[in-house]
Amino acid sequence: MMNLTIKEIIQATKGKLIKGSEETTIHGIATDSRKLKPGELFIPFIGEKMNGHVFIEDVLKLGAAGVFTSEKNKDYPIFYAGQSVIQVTDTLKAFQDLARYYMKKFSIPVVGVTGSTGKTSTKDMIYAVLSQKYKVLKNEGNFNNHIGLPLTVFQLEPEHEAAIFEMGMRGLGEIDLLAELVRPDIAVITNIGLSHIERLGSQENILKAKMEITNYFSEENRLVINGDDAYLSTLKDQNLGFHIIYIGIHGRYNYIADNVEDLGENGSRFCLVTEGVKYPFELKVPGKHNIYNALCAIAVGLELGVSMELIQKALKAFEGSKMRLNILHTKENIKVINDAYNASPDSMISALRVLDKTVSNRKIACLGDMLEMGEFAEQGHYLVGREVAKGHIDMLLAAGFHAGHMARGAMENGFPSEKIFICGNNQEAISILKEVLKEGDAVLVKGSRGMKMEEIVEYILERS
Ligand code: ATP
Ligand code: MG
Repeated sequence: MMNLTIKEIIQATKGKLIKGSEETTIHGIATDSRKLKPGELFIPFIGEKMNGHVFIEDVLKLGAAGVFTSEKNKDYPIFYAGQSVIQVTDTLKAFQDLARYYMKKFSIPVVGVTGSTGKTSTKDMIYAVLSQKYKVLKNEGNFNNHIGLPLTVFQLEPEHEAAIFEMGMRGLGEIDLLAELVRPDIAVITNIGLSHIERLGSQENILKAKMEITNYFSEENRLVINGDDAYLSTLKDQNLGFHIIYIGIHGRYNYIADNVEDLGENGSRFCLVTEGVKYPFELKVPGKHNIYNALCAIAVGLELGVSMELIQKALKAFEGSKMRLNILHTKENIKVINDAYNASPDSMISALRVLDKTVSNRKIACLGDMLEMGEFAEQGHYLVGREVAKGHIDMLLAAGFHAGHMARGAMENGFPSEKIFICGNNQEAISILKEVLKEGDAVLVKGSRGMKMEEIVEYILERS
């Protein structure tokens, strides 16, 4: 992070200097007192369980250059001259205001990625493409919300030539806050699925919420969307005041993947068609969904001047993001498709298709609950069960509260009931796997983040 003076910080956050000096500089931000390094600014948040203000004295002792506080009439001891205490009304808002101010110091192309599923995968692919030409900043892992995104902004350094931000949301207005903060020049919406439908009520509302990524767009900005998506395709007939770039497989778009060859877990090959010209592409990462993600990365790469040749090279080498359809092999020759990171009906279905195509003795789907689906939970789990029945899957282990709906979806669509195991939790699923797993099997492990399905992956990897 570039140095900031206390004077700048006060101006950006409308804060009040209680102690210290305006001339002092800070060279980093810490919101976790355990991670603070001397010379950084500590910003305490007030959470449900913890109020960060209780650590202010500790961090001052540790050599923080300054602290924010929203507590009034409190005296904090200072350990060296210049250590600053800045009073703000709301520490979270001041943190975001400061990030917005810091962001404005950089005039580099900014890409924003949102969508129901595939944000991290698409962001990582875009990063791989842009890194062929530029020094790029991206948010690590899933730092995509009102705290993670500003924290990422503070990682910008003068040498960065482009930035790519994943933007997540649970409800209306959240993407707006993030878009206002980083002002993307190019936005990508991967798809409109069912994640967070509990809060938003309908997919129309999800589309509305995702479209907030364009709230600060002007004519020269670009939105990249999947034209095959039922909801995103409705944007076609609207005059939005900026240009939309369409990608997809099943229509006439700006970037089309044609002659798709699904190589199962080994990835895929396709021909990119744009303006009537064809370019061959290869991907190591499996699944049709990754072709959509790659098309988004191609569109963004070309928009920012990366050559087709470098984009082909970057995508061919792209290895995928952690816990997202990673193929692992155990000592006993069991293949684990680790997709434990998260789950929604759309991503469950994509992952089941990869399991279906994999080469193995038996194919076992070990699926945990999809959370935050509200009244759509029953239908969503049923649809996943139905997908299990459609493929060549040999066994279903459904773990969690909604396991019954998944099992019903499978059974009612012809999946034999004796091949279904309903488990209350991961431990029960592990007990069943202990009995049934055999050399040569392939197991897909997937569920919502809260289901901690990696426990099952760990068990399979460690057993011998
Ligand atoms: P989160 O909301 O947790 O941040 P995300 O949108 O970042 O999720 P990823 O982590 O990239 O999504 O992918 C989650 C899972 O969704 C992957 O494991 C994969 O199975 C599936 N997936 C990835 N891309 C797509 C896509 N374009 N369409 C449908 N499913 C996808
Ligand atoms: Mg993500």
